[in-house]
Amino acid sequence: MPLARARAALKQVFGYDDFRPGQDEVIGAVLAGEDVLAVMPTGSGKSMCYQLPAIVDGGLTVVVSPLIALMRDQVQQMAHVGVAAATLNSGNGDEANRETLKRIRAGEVSLLFVSPERLAGDGLVSLLASSAVKRLAIDEAHCVSQWGHDFRPEYRQLARLRSALGNVQVVALTATADAATRSDIADQLFASPPRIVVHSFDRPNLHLRFEAKDKPRSQIADFLDRHRGSNGIIYAGSRDKTEKLADWLTGRGVRALAYHAGLDPATRAARQDVFLQEDGIVIVATIAFGMGINKPDVRFVCHADLPSGVEAYYQEIGRAGRDGLPAETLTLYGIEDFAFRRRQIDDKAIGEAQRKLEHRRLSAMIDLAEAVTCRRQALLAYFGETSGPCGACDLCQGGAELVDASVDAQKVLSAVVRSGQRYGAGHLVDILRGEASETVRRQGHDKLKTFGVGAARGAHEWRTVIRQLFAAGALAEASQEHGGFCLTESGEAILFGRETIALRKIKAEPVRRSRSAAR
Ligand code: ADP
Ligand code: ZN
Repeated sequence: MPLARARAALKQVFGYDDFRPGQDEVIGAVLAGEDVLAVMPTGSGKSMCYQLPAIVDGGLTVVVSPLIALMRDQVQQMAHVGVAAATLNSGNGDEANRETLKRIRAGEVSLLFVSPERLAGDGLVSLLASSAVKRLAIDEAHCVSQWGHDFRPEYRQLARLRSALGNVQVVALTATADAATRSDIADQLFASPPRIVVHSFDRPNLHLRFEAKDKPRSQIADFLDRHRGSNGIIYAGSRDKTEKLADWLTGRGVRALAYHAGLDPATRAARQDVFLQEDGIVIVATIAFGMGINKPDVRFVCHADLPSGVEAYYQEIGRAGRDGLPAETLTLYGIEDFAFRRRQIDDKAIGEAQRKLEHRRLSAMIDLAEAVTCRRQALLAYFGETSGPCGACDLCQGGAELVDASVDAQKVLSAVVRSGQRYGAGHLVDILRGEASETVRRQGHDKLKTFGVGAARGAHEWRTVIRQLFAAGALAEASQEHGGFCLTESGEAILFGRETIALRKIKAEPVRRSRSAAR
C-alpha cells in the first residue's frame, strides 16, 4: 500500500513515528493521483504532504511558495535528510540558477521550489514542460484568491502553468481558508473539482480536564469509576509505574494490562490484540503504546503523569473517541512532573537545538496544565487555530477561580531567598510550615524569619503555590542537577511588592502537624 510506504519513509527519512491528523488523508489521496486542496492549521505539517509523496513516488515535484526565505530553509532541510531539492528564485545568482536548471534537465531534482514571480517568465514554463513534472504543489494557496487576506496577482499564472505542464496533478495547501476562499481556490487552481481536505485540530467530543496530583490513586480510581466497563488508556511516565498501576487496578476488579517497550514483543502483541478485540480493557502504558492503534470506541484517556509536550498530549488524548462519540480525558500533574520531564530532556543524547525545542514544548505543556481560561482554546491556539471558549472543558465549567495570592507568594519567595536559592519544594514546605526536619535543623533553617510563617496552610497547599509560581515564571530551577528553586526577575518583583500575582484559589486542606502524606 502506498500509504504504508509513505509511513515507513516518514519514520526512516524524518524519524517521525506517525502521521499528524489530516496528513494521512492528504498523502493517501496524493499518492492515489487525486488533486487535493488541503486546509490545515499552521504547524500541522503541510509540507510533508508533498515532501513524502515526492520521496515515495520519485519524479519531479514543483513547489510554488511565495516565501523565498522559507524555500531556502526547506531546501536545506531536504538536503539534510538526503532528498535532492533546489530553488529557482530571483535571490539566487544566475550561475546558481543555471546549475539548477542543468540538474533539473538531468532528472536529478525531486523537489524544485520556485517563487510565483519566477514562473511568470515563459522560459521556465517551457523548460518545466519538457522535464516530465510529476506534480505541482502550491503552498499558501489562499494567495490566489482575492477573498483571501494575502492576494498575490502572480498566483493567477498558476493555472496557465498547470495546463502548460499537461494538467499535472495539483496539491494546494493553505492554513487559512474560509468557505468562500476555499471554493475560489478550487476554481482557480484546478482543472476539475479537487478533493478538499479540511483539518481542524478541534476534537469537540473530547472532554478536557486537568487536575493537580493530590491523591493520584484515588483521583484515578474516581475517574475510572465513571467509566466502568469502558475501553480506556492510562498513560504513565515509567515502565515500572505502568506495572504497578495495572496490578493495583486488577486488584480493584478492572481488566487492566500493562504495556511498555520493556515487555517482550510477543507479550506486547498479545496485549495489544486483547485491547483491540475485547471490550472493557484498560491499557496502562508508556508512550510506547498507541502508534497505529485505531480502536474507535476508546472512551477515556488518563495521563497519570504530565505528558512531555502539547504535541504528545494531543496525540495521546486523540486516541479516545475516534468514533465521534463523547470521550473523557484527565491529566494529572504535579511539581515533580515538571522537574522529571526537564531532567528527561536534559539527559537525552540530542543536539542543543533539539533540546531547546523540547524544553519549549514542555513549557507549553506546563502552561496548558496551569491555564486559567478555556483549555481547548489554549490547546487550539498552540496549533495556530483561533477559537472562542468552548464552554465544555474543566475551566469553562468553572474550574479556576483566581485570587490575589501575593502574600502567600511572598512567603514562598522569601523562604527561597533566605535558604539560599537552592532547595526543592519539600524543604521549602518544611520551612514554611515550621517542620524542624533533620535538614532544616542541620542547615539552621529553623532560625529563619520565614520558619513557620505558613503553618496555617497544609503541605499540599504550599506545593500548589510553589508549582503555580514556577509555572508563572516567578521561580526557576536553580541548577540542573538538584531541582532546587531560585527567584527570577518577576519573582523578585513580587517579593518586593512591585508586582502582584493572582493564582488559582487553593482548596484548604485540614492542617496536620505530622509530616504530610503529599511528599
Ligand atoms: P505547516 O506548513 O503546516 O505550518 P510544517 O510543514 O512547517 O507545517 O511542519 C511543521 C513541523 O512539523 C515541521 O517541523 C515538521 O517537520 C513537523 N512534522 C511534520 N509532520 C510531522 C509528523 N508526522 N510528526 C511529527 N512532526 C511532524
Ligand atoms: Zn473550554
